[in-house]
Formats: sequence, structure tokens, C-alpha cells
Amino acid sequence: MAEASVYELAVIGAGPAGLSAAVAAAERGLTVALVDAGAQTGGQYWRHPDERHLDAFARPESSGHHHWSHYRDLRTRLARAVEGGRLVHLPGRQVWRIDRDDTLLTLRTTPTSGADATDAAAASERVVRAERLVLATGAYDRQLPLPGWTTPGVMAAGGVQALLKANQVTAGRRAVVAGTGPFLLSVAAGLADAGVEVVAVCDANALSRWAATPLRAVQEPGKLLEGVGYAATFVRHRIPLRTRTVVASVHGTGRVSHVTLAKVDARGRVRPGTGRTVEADLVALGWGFTPQLELAIGLGAQTRVDVDSSLIAVADADQRSSVPGVYLAGEATGIGGAVQSCAEGELAALTAAVDAGRADDPRARSRLRRRIARGRRFAVGMHRASPVPADWTTWLASDTTVCRCEEVDADAVRTTVHDLAADDPRDVRVTARPGMGLCQGRVCGFALACLVSAETGRPAEPTDLEPLAKRPLATPLTVAALAALADGKD
Ligand SMILES: Cc1cc2nc3c(=O)[nH]c(=O)nc-3n(C[C@H](O)[C@H](O)[C@H](O)COP(=O)(O)OP(=O)(O)OC[C@H]3O[C@@H](n4cnc5c(N)ncnc54)[C@H](O)[C@@H]3O)c2cc1C
Repeated sequence: MAEASVYELAVIGAGPAGLSAAVAAAERGLTVALVDAGAQTGGQYWRHPDERHLDAFARPESSGHHHWSHYRDLRTRLARAVEGGRLVHLPGRQVWRIDRDDTLLTLRTTPTSGADATDAAAASERVVRAERLVLATGAYDRQLPLPGWTTPGVMAAGGVQALLKANQVTAGRRAVVAGTGPFLLSVAAGLADAGVEVVAVCDANALSRWAATPLRAVQEPGKLLEGVGYAATFVRHRIPLRTRTVVASVHGTGRVSHVTLAKVDARGRVRPGTGRTVEADLVALGWGFTPQLELAIGLGAQTRVDVDSSLIAVADADQRSSVPGVYLAGEATGIGGAVQSCAEGELAALTAAVDAGRADDPRARSRLRRRIARGRRFAVGMHRASPVPADWTTWLASDTTVCRCEEVDADAVRTTVHDLAADDPRDVRVTARPGMGLCQGRVCGFALACLVSAETGRPAEPTDLEPLAKRPLATPLTVAALAALADGKD
């Protein structure tokens, strides 16, 4: 597609939210550009093996997936819209910056792999111009540091699952899966079905916390059924589920060999004398997800802190952001799962179509609004049942690494707060450098905010979290791309 094309709608992200938005918008007659960093659609939830080489995989691409038929339907509708000339799919491209004037949004992209940097066709797709934009950039794993967490063999639970889903590769043979929330069940069940011995699944919270929200669970029968499926897998593979239990430390030279588990109280403080050691070569840690907000924040979209303490972008009841012409869908508006993301994506597209002057479908929009409100109630219940323990920072030893990129430990953060009077995460960041390295705080940002808050006694506010999620360059970039921008060459 020529550089000068202006689309009526651009969608960033081809996960459940963005894919639903792009397809629905094209079917409403809008011209759409769908830009995604992934080489194929599906996002995190429907991550699957390379479609060009399916015969190289032992199991079918649908293996381990929920709602796969819905994904297949979206994929078919996407192909139809592409064939019909209403939609351009730009896979393997990361949007690193968005400029906005009165009428247009200009998306600047860079190839995910760098492989096609000199390709003329790819060069013509580097800039995407659109009248409206759906941001469906999803989320990434939320991590908390603990003693030994940088030992090879300790991985984010989402990363372990991504290897399974995309490559059908298991990251170890004996696994401990730990953290909090129902995602742990999905990861453990996937590992066990793939032949890994799961020696423990540790949730820092008690199952009784779910009792406070039974109505919410009943309102989402699909989630209940998923839970029943995991329970059956746990029984079949004899996987022990240990509640109010955490990984207190990880041991091993060159690779994880042992893990110390410990019981915790309701605030997450380790109960003395409860430590026990198990052998494992893989530790999968998951503490929920962090919405990916660089682009939303870069555009000036309003944010707030959600029930799970994540910074999220604020969407109104029709998925409009606070920035005219920019809509939000999926995990960027609050962690709620794939079904919720699909509904938000579809509603964002219908709203964008109405705003672009297309016919309204009030019944469809109100059905989606109701669906989203129900999903949101469930998500609030889930977050309340699976909070990050209030006192998790007490697990840290003084030399526990908090920021891996810049090798900043807990002691350095604490010293910066107390001796140098740095009283918010931004101050600590610029003084001691946590969050200043390659990942720009994506991994340590949340933990840093918690640690500073524990030391100052002041809860983290949006003004504390936003600077940690603010990245003027949303993705790593070649100097050549920056230079081209400076030269006015897009
Ligand atoms: C590793 C991981 C595994 C998960 N597994 C599960 C699971 O098994 N079950 C479950 O219920 N939930 C899972 N989740 C939660 C999951 O994110 C959601 O339920 C669902 O995928 C959200 O859909 P989404 O469209 O909002 O985001 P995503 O699926 O995350 O899709 C976002 C898309 O945006 C693209 N993107 C982001 N930034 C840019 C950019 N700057 N330029 C171009 N493209 C960009 C990404 O490449 C991605 O394809 C997982 C989350 C993670 C992080």
C-alpha cells in the first residue's frame, strides 16, 4: 500500500482486541490498517506455531487453546477483508511513535526483526496515516523480584507459556509454578499436558478469597468451565496446589536446582519455620499482567490506577479514550482476559464507525456494553481474589536484584529513599538508575513502585506510575530510523 494512503482507521495490535476491532471495522465499511509486532495474528492469548510450517510441529496449532474456533473465525474474516481490499495487514511491524494533528494520526513503524529494513516494499509501509486509531497493545507479564530470581531457569510464567504455544517447547523437566491468580493454573496445566513434572503450583493467596465473589464467577460460566478443566488436569497429573505459599528463594549454580517454598500470612509475610526445599529446574513466576501503555501515554491519554494496582488507560463506555479519535481496547484498559478483549475491540470498532459517519447499530453496541460491564465485574472479583501481597517486599534480601538491566539491588533502592530523600519512584530511578536500562522499566517498574511505596509509606499514585510507563520511543529502534525522522524523511 502506498505511503500516501490515509486509512479511516488504524488498529495497533492483532491480539484478541485488535483483531476483533480490525475485522468489525472493515465489515462496517471502513478502510483499515492493522499493524502488529507479531509475524502472525493472535496476540498473547492465541499465540500459535508458525503457520508456514505447521507440519513441523507434533501437535496441531489449536493445541492448548481456548476459544480456538472463535479465533479461526476472526482469521477467516480478516483474510476476507484483506481480499476485499478494505483492510491492510502489516505484520512484523512495531509502532515506535505516533504524531497527531487536527485531522490525522501518523504512525511510525519499524520492523520487528530488522530483517526488512532495506526492503523497498517494507520502506513504503513504514509510515501509516489514519483518521482514527484503536490502541489494542495488550499487556506483558508482571514480575516481582525475589532472592535468586535471576538464576537461569527462572522465567516469567507467560514466557514459559509462549514457548509452549508458539514452539511446543517445554522450558524444563521439573517445574514450580508460582505467583498468584488463575493464569498459574493455565501454565501448569499446559506444562503437565506437555510432559513436564509440575512439583508445585504456589498461589500466595488463599482460595477462600474467591468466596467473596461467587456471583461474579457464576456470571462468567465460561471461566468456571475453564477452572473445572484445570482441576481435572491437576487431578490427572497429581499436581499439588499450595495456597498461601510463595517461592521464598531460588538456588542453583548456572541453573536452578532447588527452590525454597514458604507459607505466608494474609499480607504475604513469610511464616517462620515453614520453609521447605523442592528440586526443580524450572520456576515459572506470574503476578498478573502489566498493560502496555507507551503509545497511549505518548498520545496524552488519561490514565488511572486499577484494582490490581496497574496503571491503565481510561476508556469511556464506548471505548473512546480521552484523546479525540483514539479508542482503546483489551488489556490496555485493565486486565480482563481474552473474551473481554474481543468485546472491547468490537465495540471500539463500532464506535469508530459511528464517529466516522457510518450507520449506527445501537442494539449491537448496547449488547457489547453489557457484555463488557459483566466481564469487568468478573475481572474486579478476580483481582480482589488474587492481589499482589501487600508485604511482598519483605521477601527481598538487601542484595536481591530489583533492576536486572542496570543491576540495581534492593539495598540501593532503600538507601536512595532514606539517605538521599528520594520520595517517589521517578526520583529513585534518576538517582539509582533502576528502570533506566534496555527494558526501560517494563520488568522492574511495578516492583520499584511497590518498594519505594513500602519505604515511604505512601501508596503509588498515577503520577508515580506514569513516568515508569512513559517511553518516548515505544520500542527499540535503529539510529537510522531516528535520523530519517530528523531529516524529515519519515
Ligand atoms: C505472555 C502472556 C501470555 C498470556 N496467556 C494467557 C492465557 O493463556 N490465558 C488468558 O486468559 N490470558 C492470557 N494472557 C492475558 C492476555 O494478554 C489476554 O487475555 C489477551 O491476549 C489480551 O488481548 P489483547 O488483544 O488486549 O492483547 P494481546 O493479546 O497482548 O495483543 C496485543 C498485540 O499488540 C501488539 N503490540 C503491542 N505493542 C505494539 C506496538 N508498539 N507496535 C505493534 N504492535 C504492538 C503485540 O505484538 C500483540 O500482538 C497472557 C498474557 C501474556 C502477556
